[in-house]
Amino acid sequence: EESQGSDKTEVADSDTLKTLQQVDSIDSDVDPMERSWPTRQNSRSSVLSEWDIPYEELEIQDLIGAGRFGRVFKGKWHGDVAIKVFNIETDNDLQLASFKTEVSMFRKTRHENLVLFMGACMKLPHLAIVTSLCKGKTLYDTVRDRRETLNMSRIVNIATQIAQGMGYLHAREILHKDLKSKNIFLENGKVVITDFGLFSVTKLIQYGERKDDTLAIPPGWLPYLAPEVITSLRATSQYTDSDLPFSQASDVYAFGTVWYELLVGDLPFKTQPAESIIWQVGKGLRQSPSNVQSRDAKDILMQCWKTQPDKRPQFSDLTQTLDRLPRKRLTRSPSTPLHLSRSAES
Ligand code: ADP
Ligand code: MG
Repeated sequence: EESQGSDKTEVADSDTLKTLQQVDSIDSDVDPMERSWPTRQNSRSSVLSEWDIPYEELEIQDLIGAGRFGRVFKGKWHGDVAIKVFNIETDNDLQLASFKTEVSMFRKTRHENLVLFMGACMKLPHLAIVTSLCKGKTLYDTVRDRRETLNMSRIVNIATQIAQGMGYLHAREILHKDLKSKNIFLENGKVVITDFGLFSVTKLIQYGERKDDTLAIPPGWLPYLAPEVITSLRATSQYTDSDLPFSQASDVYAFGTVWYELLVGDLPFKTQPAESIIWQVGKGLRQSPSNVQSRDAKDILMQCWKTQPDKRPQFSDLTQTLDRLPRKRLTRSPSTPLHLSRSAES
């Protein structure tokens, strides 16, 4: 069933990642017959139409929450769904093109650890993405729930599933850009990652108005940001997504923070103000997981949190490392003093 045609599709997909202006390159997966159809004004819309959900077909129910880019509703569309409604200015063509490009990538994601993309509403003013509704708890809530017993083998199992889902995304040349425990759900032990690629759809600046030189930083965001990204935050006054050097390596850094949460039950730099976190991370300082006993577990953290992006492992390396962890020993290995506070460059 996988034909030569789908190889071309892969090429088109990596192109779409590179630049927003290349929305038209998606045309390569249009059926040639369809392409020459005389009444088609725009073959791009025909590609996307397969995933178009007419807004009228959606039954929008309760508001689940509001995030950086819009609101999330529970709804019905052939069953329970989550509907993400975007606040995109109607006159911004580039943002609209960006939205369509991202959506064209989501339809290629089929992995058991990634939320199921069902379709999107593409017609202004109703821009929305429809995914399966995650019914479990987020990892954010799970690690903070004292009733949850996260032993080491469970932690390794969760981390492995995250690394597998992320490895799949990277193999498809999709960056997550917003990997965090709030975007990871646990459903009967199964990890479901959400919100991959959505960061690009919206501008960070939408989160809040900047006042003079102060940064508008969503709470809880900085601990996931790699030093190279944090440094760019500081350097630019009017940044957009493309100014921030997100990469596979910055996704791996964010995974490191999720790993820390799994081990410690909270975020690094928890009580510190934004300026202080920015300064410390920029200087190469990292939070030390003081009460983690296992040297192997700390080692993974140090690898993911390396200052230099190219020194960090890939997700495929991480799944192997996690697999090789001696799980029994992990819980009771004698504490090896390890000075993490200075950056992990050694
Ligand atoms: P954040 O990820 O920062 O919490 P979002 O805008 O992504 O912000 O999500 C808003 C709310 O909707 C959160 O409570 C989140 O858990 C919930 N949510 C997002 N996506 C889904 C989904 N696919 N299924 C169920 N709940 C979801
Ligand atoms: Mg989210």
